[in-house]
Amino acid sequence: MKSLKLAAMLAATLALAACNQGGGGGGKVANVDGARIIAAKSNGEWLSYGRTYDEQRFSPLDKINAGNVGQLGLAWMYEFDTDRGQEATPVMVDGVLYTTTAWSKVFAFDAKTGALKWSYDPKVEGKKGFDACCDVVNRGVAVWKGKVYVGALDGRLIALDAATGKEAWSVQTTDTSRPYTITGAPRVIKDKVLIGNGGGEYGVRGYLSAYDVNDGKLIWRFYTTPNPNGQPDNAASDKVMKEKGAATWFGEGWKATGGGGTVWDSMAYDPDLDILYVGVGNGTPWNHIKRSDGKGDNLFLSSILALKPDTGEYVWHYQTTPGESWDYTATQHIMLADMNVGGTPRKVLMQAPKNGFFYVLDRTNGQLISAKPYVPITWAKGVDPATGRPIENPGVRYENAPSLQVPAPFGAHNWHPMAFNPKENLVYIPAQIIPFAYTPDKGYTYRPGGWNVGTDFLANALPSDKAQIAAVKAMVKGQLIAWDPVAQKARFTIEHPYFWNAGILSTAGGLIFQGAAQGEFAAYSAADGKKLWSYKTDNGVIAAPMTYEIDGEQYVAQMVGYGGAGALSAPFVLPDRPRLPGRLMVFKLGGTAKAPDYVRPEVVPIDLTGVTSTGDAKRGFALFHQNCQVCHGPNASGAFLPDLRRSQMLLSAENWKSVLIDGALAPRGMASFSRFFDAKGAEDLRAYVLSEAKGAAAPAVAPAKGGPPPKS
Ligand code: CA
Repeated sequence: MKSLKLAAMLAATLALAACNQGGGGGGKVANVDGARIIAAKSNGEWLSYGRTYDEQRFSPLDKINAGNVGQLGLAWMYEFDTDRGQEATPVMVDGVLYTTTAWSKVFAFDAKTGALKWSYDPKVEGKKGFDACCDVVNRGVAVWKGKVYVGALDGRLIALDAATGKEAWSVQTTDTSRPYTITGAPRVIKDKVLIGNGGGEYGVRGYLSAYDVNDGKLIWRFYTTPNPNGQPDNAASDKVMKEKGAATWFGEGWKATGGGGTVWDSMAYDPDLDILYVGVGNGTPWNHIKRSDGKGDNLFLSSILALKPDTGEYVWHYQTTPGESWDYTATQHIMLADMNVGGTPRKVLMQAPKNGFFYVLDRTNGQLISAKPYVPITWAKGVDPATGRPIENPGVRYENAPSLQVPAPFGAHNWHPMAFNPKENLVYIPAQIIPFAYTPDKGYTYRPGGWNVGTDFLANALPSDKAQIAAVKAMVKGQLIAWDPVAQKARFTIEHPYFWNAGILSTAGGLIFQGAAQGEFAAYSAADGKKLWSYKTDNGVIAAPMTYEIDGEQYVAQMVGYGGAGALSAPFVLPDRPRLPGRLMVFKLGGTAKAPDYVRPEVVPIDLTGVTSTGDAKRGFALFHQNCQVCHGPNASGAFLPDLRRSQMLLSAENWKSVLIDGALAPRGMASFSRFFDAKGAEDLRAYVLSEAKGAAAPAVAPAKGGPPPKS
């Protein structure tokens, strides 16, 4: 009898061990579920992209605090094999830190020692980089019941075994004939992985999908724009699209592109209301006249959508920018909090979208509580409290003439995560002030696979006059704004030397942490913004930091590595820096690790004596600002992606053509442009870039010695 009982116990133990080994549901490895994410609100774990379902990015950990943050030092670091932008927020579960890098690679580290446990490379094809408007970045993973989920740049959603990094399942979430990408972090609610996509500058139709965590089976999909063929999609969005959405679209322009409205970043979840909130992107083309004959709100572009997570059923929406015409997405960070507004406790949703207004909504019903500009803006006077609609200034729709206005397509705030401090009742916003000359592209026609914005970028070429360039630079600002969401005003503002700074972490230690473009990671007082500590990272920082505790010790982790839209398309207002490999840097009190010096790229002079072109430089100038500017900077001033003025390819018409037309560098992300111009156009471009190179006074910065890493 006794031995039978023993045998049964042994069998049960063995079964449990097998289960644990597999890391599957019910096992001990990375066993995150909804109850655990909800409990993390008060226990300092960091189990999901924005830490908790409300995405407050506020940690109750306080061992590192305003009194001792000066003793913060490097605990460990890891250098990655890519020098493109690093935008991920790591997740820490049971002593393992999971993060992603550019090109959607996943890494798992011992969070205490930094020992690499495993890594996974989805092997995204280099030429896919062409479809990524804003760098080949990735913002992180979701972890749930033994699996790690990542969205790959090429549109795959991939589930990995959390214990081994081996692929459990993979599903293509997008039409591969369209320029869809994924850069955002998945979220998991009630055994459903939620993932959207990007591509709103090119020509795609946006949607959000929910997949079964176990096998990647599609459970529901919500489209944010109507089906261009006028038919239902057999999707969760059909009913509301028929009742509210379809009638807000006009003309034919949107039908070729799909209309845009990509869900490329923000999500939040209220488990009590059981409502999922998602942010929706800009229209395609941007220009409302070209997209929808200048008529209609174009639902659900630039909207916050509230959906039921089980079915994708529509609950409510709030459109921040009706008839969007400026790339003013509402995909920015959505944060939920409960607070007293005018003496009444309110369940609020907060967002600082690109359009420059800070919105406080009642998240039970989507009603506007208040909206005020968080930076000086010129496109609208305010938001009408009765209708919730912005009051636009005349001329901003650039019907006939350019409109120089703030914010730019970069937004007054982009994807960089905000953070909340419940004690101070402050939201910390990584903000920026950038002007842009929106100019009608009179000759706009849809170019499959290319940029389709209906806005002429020629007007944003740099002036030739140095004083004018200096004036433009002086207008561009980066700030950390401590925003009081009840009073709707800044309590304090930290000025940064550059725009395009990092996401923010807030802690109960009375601290806010933020990295900066010039290569710094710093801690500030949460109450007044005083700088209390800083560390030189030697490489620009854009990702948000996070924090966790192991064995009674608090750590702060930061992905370091410059890139993203700002670095690609506005290098002339950013620090002139070489591309350097990304790093994960983890800090603790008394940390004494030393980061090795970066191998600085060697400066290789380029001798253009006697180098000429038969091309038409004037036509090349136009072609450049239509096709190349967003990655290589206005006037070929790119310092992040190769500075074409210093490219050895420039020396030979044949080599130049081999890259632009034959796609010789496609594996490294520079796809062939033969869809958009021919060999004659390529030579015109070379003539133009040669003229810039011969006039350029800036010193040359070439790729690092030994060549860049593969697929960089
Ligand atoms: Ca966009």
